[in-house]
Amino acid sequence: MKESPIRCPFCGSLHASKQSDFGTSLMVKQYFCLDCKSAFEWIKWGEDNTHLDLPDFLQDRQPE
Ligand SMILES: [Zn+2]
Repeated sequence: MKESPIRCPFCGSLHASKQSDFGTSLMVKQYFCLDCKSAFEWIKWGEDNTHLDLPDFLQDRQPE
C-alpha cells in the first residue's frame, strides 16, 4: 500500500518518525518531527476511509 509522505505541520519537514499507529483516535497516527522535535498527529485519510464511520454497536459495546 502506498503511503503519502508525512509532512510536519510546524516546520514542513519530511523527516518524521512514526511513534504510534494510534493517536487520540483510530484515524490518526502519532509522529515525531526529527527537525523541530515536535510531536504531531497525522490523519490516516485514504487508508481506511471505508471504515471511518463506525456503526453504533461498535462504539457503544456492552460487556456480556
Ligand atoms: Zn517539524
